[in-house]
Amino acid sequence: MSGPASDIAMGVRDGSRSAVTVLEDYLARIDAREPRIHAFNVVLADEARHRAADIDALVANGADPGPLAGVPVALKDNMCTRGVPTTCSSKILEGWRPPYDATVVRRLSEAGAVVVGKTNLDEFAMGSSTENSAFGPTRNPHDPTRVPGGSSGGSAAAVAAGFVAVSLGSDTGGSIRQPAALCGVVGVKPSYGAVSRYGLVAFASSLDQIGPFANTVADAALVLQVIAGHDPADSTSIPQPAADLSDVLTEGVEGVRVGRIVDLPSGADPDVDERLEAALETLQTAGAKIVDVEVPAFTYGLTAYYLIAPAEASSNLARYDGVRYGLRVDATETNAMYAATRAEGFGDEVKRRIMLGTYALSAGYYDAYYGKALKVRRLIADDFERAYQHADVLLTPTSPTVAFPIGERTDNPFAMYLCDTYTIPTNLAGHPAVSVPFGTGAGRLPVGVQVLAPMLAEPMMFRVAAELERAVTS
Ligand code: GLN
Repeated sequence: MSGPASDIAMGVRDGSRSAVTVLEDYLARIDAREPRIHAFNVVLADEARHRAADIDALVANGADPGPLAGVPVALKDNMCTRGVPTTCSSKILEGWRPPYDATVVRRLSEAGAVVVGKTNLDEFAMGSSTENSAFGPTRNPHDPTRVPGGSSGGSAAAVAAGFVAVSLGSDTGGSIRQPAALCGVVGVKPSYGAVSRYGLVAFASSLDQIGPFANTVADAALVLQVIAGHDPADSTSIPQPAADLSDVLTEGVEGVRVGRIVDLPSGADPDVDERLEAALETLQTAGAKIVDVEVPAFTYGLTAYYLIAPAEASSNLARYDGVRYGLRVDATETNAMYAATRAEGFGDEVKRRIMLGTYALSAGYYDAYYGKALKVRRLIADDFERAYQHADVLLTPTSPTVAFPIGERTDNPFAMYLCDTYTIPTNLAGHPAVSVPFGTGAGRLPVGVQVLAPMLAEPMMFRVAAELERAVTS
């Protein structure tokens, strides 16, 4: 590997490393393994080479390209990149090239990063295995017969395989944290509103957040500081600067109150539970205080999510009509053209979500389904608030299982939905959460532990994540 992103940036900035040489290392690994892994929808090798050469030239001229100088990055293919295809791994967007960059893409670029490619995902970010991509699945670099998780499976696999130093994903119900856990990398879902969604193709707008994947907690913090902070182009963006995370990573956890959720929904495999217990013990040894808390409504997160997220998706996806974007299947009159385009362009899972959402929002059922789910969402937020009176962070498994075999859950949507039991409640509350690799479970496959924190408590969350990382890497 080529070392942490922070080392790359430091070396490129002080002229001791060349961005071009760094990039060639990563491209060589892509050449060797990408045909088997399929992390990318597109690799932008030529563009990246030009960009890396420009970064080196800036340094040679005495300029500072920024905190991510020369760092190779990958973007989930649901983030708009000007002039570069953005497909959401859907046939319906084939051929569409956005006329603008997402705010996160612009910020990475202004910080000196080198975009290497766009990564595969479950179509429109709906799924937990990246098998719902219209372009075929991504494979887990730790065991290519298994899934990388999803929906940001390509971004997680790209970091785990050493194809890039860091990447971005989006998390609506767990799509950064769950693949991070299954691929053995760090994955962060920031507080809702901390990172601009401008230019992120919408799935469920009240839940979607962009966040980083990285090999280390420090690299994840570095990227988050670059992409976070107010953006007037996103009305849900919090009007304050990015949190300063540079000093918190070495602070330790002396006196920090770490909550164990005693009424957590069961269902995690014993090897995963064992890692959670080990993590709690590690933090206790490091000086944290373990406290028992209850979050009764946590259990209903999954049910509420599968009403709210499809409801919002059914509305957001109404714009793919064969007129404004990508695919169009012609017919003799307009409605038939819409229907033919959508029938041809969307995959099965996306159609299932649109139907679920349309049903939940329909006149006769709105109160019974969508309205009720919103009430549950409120209860979840209230329960978390009570728990956080006794704890600074909460610890749970990220995923109930290690990476599962490709094909194992494709015929059983409910089994697939259960992958996100532990990640979804945080999205409903809008809070931040991170998955930290914490050893291995069955088959020596990676296990992630999830650190949950109250709204905008990223500094405390990163402190605890860094302590967990120290325990497994020391
Ligand atoms: N797996 C969940 C779903 O399919 C979450 C997806 C996400 O976070 N984008 O909806």
